[in-house]
Amino acid sequence: MTIFDFQAKFPDERSCISYLAELKWKDGYVCPKCGNKKYCAGSDEFDRQCTKCNYLESPTSRTLFHKTKFSILKAFYIVFYVSTSKKGISSTELSRKLGLRQKTCWSFKQKVMRGMKSSGNFKITGNAEVDETVVGGQEEGVRGRKNGKKKLVVFAIERKGKGVSRMYGKVINKSSAKELGEFMKDVIDTDATVKTDEWLGYTPLKKDFIHLSQVKSGKKGENFPDLHRIIMGFKGWLRGMHHNVNYLQRYIDEYCYRFNRCHMKETIFDNLLLRMVKADPFPQKLYSINA
Ligand SMILES: [Zn+2]
Repeated sequence: MTIFDFQAKFPDERSCISYLAELKWKDGYVCPKCGNKKYCAGSDEFDRQCTKCNYLESPTSRTLFHKTKFSILKAFYIVFYVSTSKKGISSTELSRKLGLRQKTCWSFKQKVMRGMKSSGNFKITGNAEVDETVVGGQEEGVRGRKNGKKKLVVFAIERKGKGVSRMYGKVINKSSAKELGEFMKDVIDTDATVKTDEWLGYTPLKKDFIHLSQVKSGKKGENFPDLHRIIMGFKGWLRGMHHNVNYLQRYIDEYCYRFNRCHMKETIFDNLLLRMVKADPFPQKLYSINA
């Protein structure tokens, strides 16, 4: 979708609200309070009101667009820019493009990134590789540890043919079998072929993942060249885009989302909008800049 396609499809506020209503109720209307399937028109054009309990619902309520304090059209622009820019877009740049405050762009972008969080519905079934890495602190080349904290991240990739088709990552506290296992069970099917290094934390997981094998990592991970390359790519992007490791999990989600969808560019905008409509809203205070 080019910016011209986007502008033709969403010329004004009404077209955006209408589209949200379409996405929200595309599988039919069900009242969230009483389960009734009949509705009548509400006060605003695309609102729906339950005929039984009179519960009134707008296209944005109970979605990540809920209580957006600026125009939905501008919110759509943010989703568009975030989903179509190859490496993501900073809140400063969004602020400049849209004439919104940087803080406003930042906090709405956090919601878009929440829409990018993996659904966990598509586990790796083929060949998986798993490894942990340290992000932040000296590892990132920050002199005198100015940016402070290091964080441990576990990554999993799916190998397909000669390349990598998918990646997932999670911030963990330590490389214990418990934490590694929780992540792996979330993203990898237990029937998949899994390769890890010889770290002890992976050994007990052989009872869950029957095709798990452990191989020497080698110098600088030479036995895991693809995984190593993916991790380097992520770290490079993080350095260039985000400069710190606060909110690291959201950055990982954003990066993985984009990586996992690089072969379906034409649907990424629609897919992201749909996820934002289907996701429950969450307290804004969690996402304040000082959180
Ligand atoms: Zn109802």
